[in-house]
Amino acid sequence: MKPIAIHAFNPGPYTGDGNWTWLIRGRVTTLIDAGTGDPKHLDEVERALEGAMLSQVLVTHGHVDHASGAPALAERFPGARFLKMPWPERDSRWPVAWERLEDGATIPAGDETLLAVHTPGHAPDHLCFWHAESRTMLCGDLAQKGTTVYVPPNLQGDLIAYLDSLERVLALRPARLLPAHGPVMDDPESVLRGYIEHRQERERQIVEQLGAGVSDPDALVARLYRGLKDTLVPMARESVLAHLIKLEREGRAGRREGAWHMIDP
Ligand SMILES: [Zn+2]
Repeated sequence: MKPIAIHAFNPGPYTGDGNWTWLIRGRVTTLIDAGTGDPKHLDEVERALEGAMLSQVLVTHGHVDHASGAPALAERFPGARFLKMPWPERDSRWPVAWERLEDGATIPAGDETLLAVHTPGHAPDHLCFWHAESRTMLCGDLAQKGTTVYVPPNLQGDLIAYLDSLERVLALRPARLLPAHGPVMDDPESVLRGYIEHRQERERQIVEQLGAGVSDPDALVARLYRGLKDTLVPMARESVLAHLIKLEREGRAGRREGAWHMIDP
């Protein structure tokens, strides 16, 4: 299986250079992720299909840069099916006839088969698509070379789930990750292990600061992200909150009127 990278033409503050979508040609022509409906993206997909119909679009998760192009694709490619794991309050924003994908679903794609792997954390509905023969994971926003992945509690991000998802993908021993942002990763184990270590280190710092009496998320951000640009502070705050909520669920931290503290074992 040789998925073709097709850019979504949507660079921006949250998408960096913009998204990659992946086209798998063959009997069941399959596009992984829908982009944002930019006409240049639709043209590139059409060109890469070389006259074939588009059979289906598999969407990794309901974030705008992955799912919002679905209606435009449906218009350009009548007959294409649209499949994702449901996230009802999000999916209704992109009105196509979404079909439900569950964890463990096997999906004909190209001339082969993909396995849907539920990998929540970045988003509750996040799926990766696994091609076992080539040990290739179409990984959506699970990983991005050179940077960490955003896990925002205010958008149902969940750090405990994200760490479990990383372990789940590691256990499959992928040979390469084809992401939605940035370059292909040929060293999945070091990338995914690196994420786990990064979160462990961040947690250790937060525990240390809480222990020293720093109780306010904004103060934690100021201590842990020195020199951060103002525009990035809200994202850093969400990341700190993700850690605090993890510690709370593990019974290690608590909060009283917005002030956080460690709980003595
Ligand atoms: Zn996302």
